[in-house]
Amino acid sequence: MEETTNNIPEDRVFDLIVVGGGAAGLMAAGWAARDGHSVLLIEKMEKTARKINITGKGRCNLTNMCPAEEFLAKVRSGAEFFGHSFKTFTPNATCHFFKKQGVKLEEEAGRRIFPKGGKAYEISDALRWWCSDNGVVVMLSTKVEEILTAAGRVYGVNYTNKRGFRRKAEGRAVLLATGGASYPLTGSTGDGYRMARDVGHTIVPVRPSLVALRSSHPKMSELVGLRLKNIRAVLEIDGEEVASEFGEIEFSNRGIDGPVVLRVSRAAVDAVIDERRVEVALDLKPALSEDILRARIDRELADLPTGAFAIELLRKMLPRALVYFVADGAGVHPKTHAAKLSAEEIGRLIGAMKRVAFPIVDYGPWEQAIVTAGGVSLDEVNPETMQSRIVKGLYIAGEVLDLDADTGGYNLQIAFSTGRLASQLKV
Ligand SMILES: Cc1cc2nc3c(=O)[nH]c(=O)nc-3n(C[C@H](O)[C@H](O)[C@H](O)COP(=O)(O)OP(=O)(O)OC[C@H]3O[C@@H](n4cnc5c(N)ncnc54)[C@H](O)[C@@H]3O)c2cc1C
Repeated sequence: MEETTNNIPEDRVFDLIVVGGGAAGLMAAGWAARDGHSVLLIEKMEKTARKINITGKGRCNLTNMCPAEEFLAKVRSGAEFFGHSFKTFTPNATCHFFKKQGVKLEEEAGRRIFPKGGKAYEISDALRWWCSDNGVVVMLSTKVEEILTAAGRVYGVNYTNKRGFRRKAEGRAVLLATGGASYPLTGSTGDGYRMARDVGHTIVPVRPSLVALRSSHPKMSELVGLRLKNIRAVLEIDGEEVASEFGEIEFSNRGIDGPVVLRVSRAAVDAVIDERRVEVALDLKPALSEDILRARIDRELADLPTGAFAIELLRKMLPRALVYFVADGAGVHPKTHAAKLSAEEIGRLIGAMKRVAFPIVDYGPWEQAIVTAGGVSLDEVNPETMQSRIVKGLYIAGEVLDLDADTGGYNLQIAFSTGRLASQLKV
């Protein structure tokens, strides 16, 4: 369905060359073409929008309908910068756009928006049609190598085509929309950082974000496969609480994972890089104060048959995988007779349920990170146009910028809003 070309005449000058056919690039290319500009989109992979197809576990959480203030609070760097493009193309506008392309949408918990059909490819297909309907010329399996500039102005790009030949494409404007460095198999391998640096931009150091955290806890391997709902996770850096999140957590071969951990991962990764002391402390019973928990233990003890062990008490209160873990953490032998547990031992069991601390020593690799923190410095891009302040005619949008947010549809909205604003280029 994608209208593509392998060859463009050497003397053709496009109004806009879009580098990267992801969420930001496709959105921008279609709008610029609809506004009457001639647009060439160059995509490194054999198909555009590969990353969109894996978003939201294959269902694509494309945006979030929470109030603007709440939305911007989820943007972890550059919320003020993003405010401009957000106003130009809001979550409402995103929904309207996709509905007009024939995609039915529905809202789920947390004001997250998904295609009703439950398939992310409905979103990527809609963006591809948007480009082809408006006459965007698309080159696939073509890697842009370099942004060409002269006297502080952009005039095109150098690329390597499908057959390995190096060519030049000329454009009055270039939009860099190469994405971040995460999930490199989708095509976002961080090329944009080098290209932006080569033309004079500063790159804020990039690091994985929304990523699993790795703990040195000696019993981590015993917990693999465990999923906990309704728990509280507190991120502590050098002994100080810096974030506290409530929800679901998962232990996997990747480390400690799940929505709650992803939300604190950005700050945790930065602290690990800075070699600070990082811990994630779990409260397994966040709804119960210590006193209420003690009363619950008393009730459970009264109900236990005579001669029952401490382990049987814990089985009534915890998922199976945590029973020995908590007993061990509390220093209580599992075969202690429950009726003989001292007040001090019960106190230790309560403590072990209210606080299980995991020292964090590492984090997942780029292959597992949902987004990239860091990127092209926002100080060097005009937030009202997305044009570079260093190179005239160069626009920058999407994850390649030093802009990232929490999970919940915020990151795709960043790509759509910044892409849409960049498409309003002046050439
Ligand atoms: C597993 C996973 C799940 C996610 N789920 C969600 C979600 O549900 N909701 C949400 O909001 N966000 C989600 N995200 C984040 C979201 O997908 C990204 O933030 C968003 O796709 C960024 O858009 P972009 O256009 O900037 O970059 P991308 O979508 O990464 O597109 C960049 C494009 O540029 C191309 N490119 C790179 N270098 C070159 C080059 N040299 N020449 C030519 N082309 C090049 C790449 O091949 C790619 O197609 C998820 C991410 C992952 C990895």
